[in-house]
Amino acid sequence: MEVRCVTCNADLSTVKDSLIFKCPECGEETINRCGKCRKSAKLWKCKNCGFEGP
Ligand SMILES: [Zn+2]
Ligand SMILES: [Zn+2]
Repeated sequence: MEVRCVTCNADLSTVKDSLIFKCPECGEETINRCGKCRKSAKLWKCKNCGFEGP
């Protein structure tokens, strides 16, 4: 199964230091972030509750 970055849509398996975590606000949506977006501190948005985090 492909897991894609919520910000740039990159395939997480191809990017180093990628991270998958639950939304800290609602705890329900899974947030996938690739290493590139983590490094550049791009914002992500939770599809479930609309929370935005760096
Ligand atoms: Zn990304
Ligand atoms: Zn959320």
